[in-house]
Amino acid sequence: MLILSSCGFRRPAGWRSIRETNGKLQGFEKLREVDVIVLGGGIVGITAAIYLRMSGRDVLVVERGRPGDEASRGNAGVLTREDLLPFSIPDDPLRLMGAVFNASSRFRYDPRILSRLLSWAGRLCEVSERDNGMRYATAIASLQRTAIFEHKALAKRASAERFFRPSGWIKLYRSDAGLEELDMELHFARIFGTTYEDLDESRLCELEPDLYAGDFSRALFFPESLSVSSPGGLTKAYARHLRDVGGVVETGDARSLARSSGRWAVNTLTGKVCADNIVVSLGAWSSQVLEPLGIQFPLMASRGYYRHFRPVDGVNLRRPIHDVEQGYMLSPMERGLRLTTGHEFTGVEAKAETAQLRRNVKAARKVFPLGPEIEEELCFAARPLLPDSLPVVGLAPGHKGLWLNFGHAGHGFTTAPATAVLLAQLMNDEEPFTDPSPLSPLRFGL
Ligand SMILES: Cc1cc2nc3c(=O)[nH]c(=O)nc-3n(C[C@H](O)[C@H](O)[C@H](O)COP(=O)(O)OP(=O)(O)OC[C@H]3O[C@@H](n4cnc5c(N)ncnc54)[C@H](O)[C@@H]3O)c2cc1C
Repeated sequence: MLILSSCGFRRPAGWRSIRETNGKLQGFEKLREVDVIVLGGGIVGITAAIYLRMSGRDVLVVERGRPGDEASRGNAGVLTREDLLPFSIPDDPLRLMGAVFNASSRFRYDPRILSRLLSWAGRLCEVSERDNGMRYATAIASLQRTAIFEHKALAKRASAERFFRPSGWIKLYRSDAGLEELDMELHFARIFGTTYEDLDESRLCELEPDLYAGDFSRALFFPESLSVSSPGGLTKAYARHLRDVGGVVETGDARSLARSSGRWAVNTLTGKVCADNIVVSLGAWSSQVLEPLGIQFPLMASRGYYRHFRPVDGVNLRRPIHDVEQGYMLSPMERGLRLTTGHEFTGVEAKAETAQLRRNVKAARKVFPLGPEIEEELCFAARPLLPDSLPVVGLAPGHKGLWLNFGHAGHGFTTAPATAVLLAQLMNDEEPFTDPSPLSPLRFGL
C-alpha cells in the first residue's frame, strides 16, 4: 500500500519513505516484518509454515491464488507408505518407442520443450547410473514413514480427520514389462519392511468386486497407505489451522521477491513484507523465482490431467487403484470418481491438451464402469519433478536466508509434512530426523 506524500502525510511508524532517484520523496510504504516468508500455498508451503509456526516463528505465506488449488488439489489423494521407485525412463524397447513417438498413455511430451526434456533426461540417466534406486528408496521411505505419522497428528489438530480413509491402494500390472517393475517394487518392499499383499484374481475381486480383473496379470495391495477424499479440501483445512495458530496467508506474487536493505522482501496485496528467511515452496513454479536470482535447478513440470465421473448405480470403487502401465489412477473422492492421468512433460503454463486424458479415460472405462463426466473443462496440475524424483530441502548456498523446499514429484501430497519437519529442524539448527544429504540443494552442483 502506497500513501502519496503530496497528501500531506508525515511518515507513520512502521512505514518507509519511497524516494525517486533524485531523492525527492514520493510517498510512504507500509513495511511489515515477519521471521519467515513462505512462498507458495500448496500442501508443501502450508505444512512448512505450520511447523515453522509451531517452532515459534512468525510466519507469512504468500500465495497468488487460493491455498491448495494447484497440484495439491489435482492429485490422486494417496498418502503412500511404500511407493519406493523413482520416476524412470522405460527400458523396455516397445514402451520406449511408444514414449518417443508420443503414443504412450503413461507419458507424453510437448515437442516444443524437446531440447529441455532431453537435457533433463540426460541428468536422470546420470542419476540412475550412479544409483540402483537404493538412495532414492532410503530417502523416500524415511520421508513417507514420518509423513503419515505427521499427517495424522496434523489432521487431528486441524479437525480434518474426516478427509482420511484407511483404505490402502492397489497397483495393477498387465504385461511382462509391468511385471519387471513389480519385481523392483517387491524388492524394495522387502528391504524396507512395507506390508503388501500379492493378490490373485479371486482376492482382487473380493477387494474390488466392480473392477474387471481379467485385463490384469498381477495386482499388489498396500494396506498401510491412507487415502483422502478431497486433497484440496485437506490443504485448505491445514491453511485454516495455520491461521488458527497465528500464521498469516496473504495474496501476492512471489516473483516480486527482492533483496531490500540486507533482507528479503515480497509485495502482497496489503503491502511490502520483509523477513530474514524466505522459503521457496512454489512447486512446479519454483524456477520462476530462483532463476532471476541466478539459481538453476533441472526442474520439470510433469502435468497430470484429472476429471470426475458420476458413480454408476450399485457400482462402487472402495480404494484408489493404479493401472501402472496405462499410467492413470482412479480414486473415490467427495466430488465423484476421480481419474488422474500419467505424466505429460510440458511448460508449466502451456495450453491443455486432451490426448492423454482421452487415452486414459478409454482405458479406464474398459476396466471399471464410469458414469457421466462431471466437468466439461480440462483440469490439470503439475508435479514438480527433479531428475532423481526427490525434493530439495535446505539452504540455497551463497544466498543468506534463502531456503528451498520444492520438487516433491508424484509423492508430495504424502511427504509434505515430513519435509516441513526437516526444514524447521534445519532452520532451527536442530538434529534432523533423517539424513538430509539426499535432499540437499548441493546435489545439483549449485
Ligand atoms: C495427477 C497427479 C496425481 C498425484 N497423485 C499423488 C498422490 O496420490 N499422492 C501424493 O502424495 N502425491 C501425488 N501427486 C503429487 C502432489 O500432488 C504434489 O507433489 C504436491 O501437491 C506438490 O505440492 P506443492 O505445494 O509443492 O505444489 P502446488 O500444490 O502446485 O503449490 C504451489 C503453489 O504455488 C503457487 N504459486 C505459483 N506461482 C506463484 C507466484 N508467482 N506467486 C505466489 N504463488 C505462486 C501456486 O498457486 C500453488 O498454490 C500427484 C500429482 C499429480 C499432478
